[in-house]
Amino acid sequence: MPFSKLGLSDELLKAINEQNYSAPYPIQIEAIPAILKGKDVVGIAQTGSGKTASFVLPILVLFQKTNQSTKNRHVKVLILVPTRELAIQIKAVFNDLGKYLPSKTKSLAIYGGVSINPQMIELQSVEILIATPGRLLELVSTKAVALSAVQLLVLDEADKMLNLGFKEELDKIFKLLPAKRQTLLYSATLSKEIETIHKNLLNQPI
Ligand code: AMP
Repeated sequence: MPFSKLGLSDELLKAINEQNYSAPYPIQIEAIPAILKGKDVVGIAQTGSGKTASFVLPILVLFQKTNQSTKNRHVKVLILVPTRELAIQIKAVFNDLGKYLPSKTKSLAIYGGVSINPQMIELQSVEILIATPGRLLELVSTKAVALSAVQLLVLDEADKMLNLGFKEELDKIFKLLPAKRQTLLYSATLSKEIETIHKNLLNQPI
């Protein structure tokens, strides 16, 4: 199965080619068409499986910039990650794979351990936000960002987020999201806690 059969645009295929991805990995073959159809997805995937591109590519298709006006500071896509390193890495994949798209959808990575002020300013007109849970809640509490217009939620490395003690923050964030949305859950392991999240947050996932 080549990438060209997965419902991606020529601009994305050109960027994929430049990354020297010769064929999609199994998780990409399964997840990309499902996400494009609007389905919820659970991916049990380790780092190195190609999980990042399996959600970045369809997000770039679904959230190509439209003329539809977005309320300022209301993000459409929220990607929750356990660490600053992962947030930066995912942002780089959005840049690499989205580089030939005719109109850019603005994405931003936010994380703790650095000054909050530049992030507050940068959040203007961001549509795709990649965030660690604690810093996200700080930015929500200062009204630098709102989550009431999120259409797609990704929980990446969900098991690691729970292992790092983010359960309480995650529960607070989930309460701020609209009920009607698409949700993608990625985890290296399927523990009891992950199954609870999966049961409570996802709707008939693939
Ligand atoms: P990830 O599992 O998302 O951390 O990705 C692991 C690595 O695999 C990254 O360096 C990607 O650039 C690379 N990668 C992702 N998809 C493919 C593919 N289809 N073919 C070759 N390399 C890939």
